[in-house]
Amino acid sequence: MSTDLLEVVDLSASYGAVRALDSVSFTVPERGFRAVLGANGAGKTTLLRTLTGLHRADAGRVLLGGEDITRLPAERVITRGLAHVPEGGGVITELTVEENLRLGALWRSPRRDRATEAEVLDLFPPLVQRLGRSAGTLSGGERQMLAIGRALMARPRVLLLDEPSLGLAPLVTKQIFALLRDLRERTGLTVVLVEQNAAGALAATDSGVVLNQGRVAVEGPSADLLSDDRTRHAYLGF
Ligand code: ATP
Repeated sequence: MSTDLLEVVDLSASYGAVRALDSVSFTVPERGFRAVLGANGAGKTTLLRTLTGLHRADAGRVLLGGEDITRLPAERVITRGLAHVPEGGGVITELTVEENLRLGALWRSPRRDRATEAEVLDLFPPLVQRLGRSAGTLSGGERQMLAIGRALMARPRVLLLDEPSLGLAPLVTKQIFALLRDLRERTGLTVVLVEQNAAGALAATDSGVVLNQGRVAVEGPSADLLSDDRTRHAYLGF
């Protein structure tokens, strides 16, 4: 029996005549930590939006735990267990840290929410002191933590992140990647990390998929991609 939690099979998606994803296939095992890399315009954001039901697939399938979720609307995809941290985090700066967190669990019962909130805060100690403050007062790294915490409030099986390193200092980026690894160890979460920071993402993840013009150009264990000069020069820019 397959232990792949997320299976993407021949997925294609377009914007009018522009084909952004062209028959993309890859899998992510339960508790896997997979990077999705590629240059500007390679299709990374479109991939995440198509996985989460925000963009309609032209063809292909997305399976979560063997269940076909390809055509489900975004809110049902979340309840099935796929949560998305969008580019920039999507934190609402006018709301408090706690209000932002609770947005992640809108449809869940309030009693269970409180237990979940305590568990999430246990993972992000810096947020505990700041629960009543507006999210606009947080540093870039803390905002990214809040965005991840809010996604975890939905109790996902798979967490998808769109360029969490964007706008963060290198040291903070490293901390966020380490936090994601720790999260996987502590909670058994499966993580898909979309990044332009290929070197940092490959150092943190188990395996990677490189997109080029909407297609899978190369994939494999992160250590192999890191040490393969041809892949680094051709697609990863370092
Ligand atoms: P970036 O790192 O710049 O966000 P990306 O790898 O996430 O790039 P996408 O944003 O998924 O790439 O874009 C894939 C392709 O789809 C590109 O050719 C892009 O120009 C095109 N595209 C993306 N969004 C739209 C849109 N709303 N309308 C038309 N074309 C789009």
